[in-house]
Amino acid sequence: MSKQGNLSIHSENIFPIIKKWLYSDHDIFVREIISNACDAILKFKKLCDMGETTDTLNLPFEVKVTVNEKEGTITVSDNGIGMTEEEVEKYITQIAFSGAEDFLNKYQDKMDKDQIIGHFGLGFYSSFMVADTVEIDTLSYTGGEAIHWNCDGGTTYELSEGKRTTRGTDIILHVNEESKEFLSYYTLSSIIEKYCNFMPVPIYVIDANKEEEPAQEGETKEPTVPTPVNDPVPLYTKKPSECTDEEYKAFYSKTFMDYNEPLFWIHLDMDYPFNLKGILYFPKLHNEYEMVEGKIKLYNNQVFVADNIKEVIPEFLLLLKGIIDCPDIPLNVSRSFLQNDGFVKKISDYITKKVADKLISLYKKELEHYEACWDSISPFVKYGCLREEKFADKMNDYILYKTIDDTYTTLKDYLEKVKDTNENKVFYVSDKEKQAQYVSMFKENGMSAVYLNHPIDSSFISHAEMKNKDVHFMRIDSDISSALKQDNAAIDTAKEEKLGKLFGEILKQDKLKVKLESLKSTTVPSMLLISEESRRMQEMMKLYGMDTANM
Ligand code: ADP
Ligand code: MG
Repeated sequence: MSKQGNLSIHSENIFPIIKKWLYSDHDIFVREIISNACDAILKFKKLCDMGETTDTLNLPFEVKVTVNEKEGTITVSDNGIGMTEEEVEKYITQIAFSGAEDFLNKYQDKMDKDQIIGHFGLGFYSSFMVADTVEIDTLSYTGGEAIHWNCDGGTTYELSEGKRTTRGTDIILHVNEESKEFLSYYTLSSIIEKYCNFMPVPIYVIDANKEEEPAQEGETKEPTVPTPVNDPVPLYTKKPSECTDEEYKAFYSKTFMDYNEPLFWIHLDMDYPFNLKGILYFPKLHNEYEMVEGKIKLYNNQVFVADNIKEVIPEFLLLLKGIIDCPDIPLNVSRSFLQNDGFVKKISDYITKKVADKLISLYKKELEHYEACWDSISPFVKYGCLREEKFADKMNDYILYKTIDDTYTTLKDYLEKVKDTNENKVFYVSDKEKQAQYVSMFKENGMSAVYLNHPIDSSFISHAEMKNKDVHFMRIDSDISSALKQDNAAIDTAKEEKLGKLFGEILKQDKLKVKLESLKSTTVPSMLLISEESRRMQEMMKLYGMDTANM
């Protein structure tokens, strides 16, 4: 049997366009070809489950990727459903090419850098980004003859008798000159690990050019047992009740290459109104000022889509590390599409709610653990409050403040405790070193203050004042004299006058009035204070580059 056909496409040649525009990232071909192989196996499994077929001859189900650098080929083999001649013509040739035509019509003029292949069913054709010639050798589960399809990137293809004797498909890519890098076993393996690490079928990568080292004399060599590069049943696909803490930790270190234990995690498992699975981990920060970007990996049915897609995941959550698998998110995320998608907003709201719920339940049920984690999660929680109003509302009563006695307290509890001395004021330390003297003065007088010394705190303080009307935050060196004043102390009026004169002369202000107050402190002779409002104003002006010298 040998047959020739013309591709049903009016355009001269779509391949240059596919090669150039389909994906900005050429390594995507790996994901497309291997995910087709997994699909073919899943389809066959389904047929078995439904009792449609009893052909289980070539078990176990697996995908083998063989790279042959010498011959310049990459072969992806599966023992899935296979294709008949009609199916090859229909699924590979016609559908793909009508998809390609749509693609051309739509994008010829306004080529978009976004990845758009998913809309057109052109996944298979991404192989032409890296291959001059692509061959298919396939045998359908329904029996019949094996089929061989061959296309050299022109507008014709060739169908002939294939060589496969067992059910399944081989896709053979003859890698082009510019894409030789993919012929390296290590490069290819790492790309497969990136895109296919959770695909649901075991995937093996084989180096065709590697020779087995011969056994030394007298040595009996154990045959090496190949291990799949992927984890076909990743932890997040299981029910939370079936997973142990040890498994969560092991999954974390393996997936994120982070050998520090995560603080805690949230297992997402949602069926309605949309499907979503995943695990979000709260990493431990190495120091309290760190605000490093985490990593949220987005998957669609165990196929990797991308890292840190800001449109799907609320931005503040990008400080976490985690996996989100949502089959309703298109494989080829086009950002402009996502931004306008109400569904994406729902996902993002759901995740935000889950995170707040987890934190609140930790506060209520494991307060000690929550307190122990607080220094690490505090920048994250505060950032979340600044970014998401709903999150801020939920979290408002569960934000902890670390006091100068190294205890943790909520704002409510704090104000209750200091209500006699502070009257709705929260004194805070923004710089542990520079304000050390004030701290010891506060301690000496049995007064309380909290640390708010992370870079995010200056924005957070304004936000907290907005959320908690009547509460004022005052830096520990601001106008605190009323709190520290010694009532009924005798004031030396002569001294007061003298000092008034002195300051008046120096500042060249003849109407300057100086008031003396006696402080409770015994260690501090005098203090230079500036009111909270003036200081904040100065700080703001500095931020905008304005001159504050005369303030
Ligand atoms: P999609 O996967 O989005 O349908 P593709 O271009 O990736 O689009 O594949 C087109 C079709 O070709 C698939 O839907 C499938 O029917 C068929 N196909 C591709 N690869 C295989 C394979 N390894 N085994 C069986 N069928 C395949
Ligand atoms: Mg596909």
